[in-house]
Amino acid sequence: MSQVFNFSAGPAMLPEAVLRKVQENLLNFNGLGVSVMEISHRSPAFLAVAKETQDCLRTLLAIPDHYHILFLQGGARGQFAAVPQNLAKSEQSTHYLCSGYWSACAAQEAKRFTRVQQQALQQHNARGELFLRTPDPILNNPAYVHLCSNETIDGIRMTTLPQTQSPLVADMSSCLLSETIDICQYGLIYACAQKNIGPAGLTLVIIRDELLNRETQLMPDIFNYQCQAQAGSMYNTPSTFAWYVTLEVCRWILAQGGLSAMAADNEKKSAYLYDYLDQSNFYTNTIAKENRSRVNVPFHLPTPALEPAFLQQATQAGLLFLQGHRAVGGMRASLYNAMPFSGVQALVDFLEQFASKSKKHQ
Ligand SMILES: *Cc1c(COP(=O)(O)O)cnc(C)c1O
Repeated sequence: MSQVFNFSAGPAMLPEAVLRKVQENLLNFNGLGVSVMEISHRSPAFLAVAKETQDCLRTLLAIPDHYHILFLQGGARGQFAAVPQNLAKSEQSTHYLCSGYWSACAAQEAKRFTRVQQQALQQHNARGELFLRTPDPILNNPAYVHLCSNETIDGIRMTTLPQTQSPLVADMSSCLLSETIDICQYGLIYACAQKNIGPAGLTLVIIRDELLNRETQLMPDIFNYQCQAQAGSMYNTPSTFAWYVTLEVCRWILAQGGLSAMAADNEKKSAYLYDYLDQSNFYTNTIAKENRSRVNVPFHLPTPALEPAFLQQATQAGLLFLQGHRAVGGMRASLYNAMPFSGVQALVDFLEQFASKSKKHQ
């Protein structure tokens, strides 16, 4: 089979070196004669995996000692429910910044548990481009302020944090480990693993210690941060295999030079694709430059009627899963850490060929 490039938004591409490492260790983990999937999460071999993953994440993200890292399950949507239940009483107000599809879903879920205030941030400028306006200052001390740093479906990146005294909670499902961040600006960060971190099944929560023991609502213990922190994220059996693969991803990122190297690569890859789209009179991306995602690039063909042929020919050319999310339509190329620059070059070459063929047929 000739080389393929996987542009899926999630579950998404993993680095080939990581998959090979996992394969190499699959039948005989650490000389135990069994796979990592078949050992107790409390065995010394797995506890070593757990500890090294924590250490790697602390190093990569420069996570200070007064933050816990939790390795949970239930995905980002699980956190849409867990965050309000852990951080706010039902009569308290919470504040949600709505920058796109996922932040709106998070706000919707939180309404079941707290009093939600919402600020819609999407606006159109004079050129008809979509951008995020600066959030209004949040003055009424909600229990927390929730935002989504990168809207995976809309292809929108949030660049301005709101002014508030309340802790910031950020859904970083599609951008955590894609760039450097200042953890101290946030009270809590969560991310499902299957975009840029590892396989589906694992959900990371990075939480400032003082938020662990807020008086909380009645909720399942598996979603209770305090309970999971005390149990070392092993109150129930964690998703051990996804956790181990995540360790291999973290080791790989460290070997590549850490998050500043990832950020530089992701900027270069996305700029190459955006530059092509911008000079094209065939494809369009209507997100304002300052809010363009560096990992999810949505674009449209001149007409949806061309989409089936586009997708079929892209697949034949080894460029997989370019269909956009049904909520926004069009196409989307996800360029997470694992996507090499050569994949983006192959995509741009294909885009150019498809455009010139289609123009000839007109
Ligand atoms: C994928 C994604 C989600 C949903 O994740 P699940 O693990 O399927 O619940 C939520 N938020 C963002 C930003 C995402 O990219």
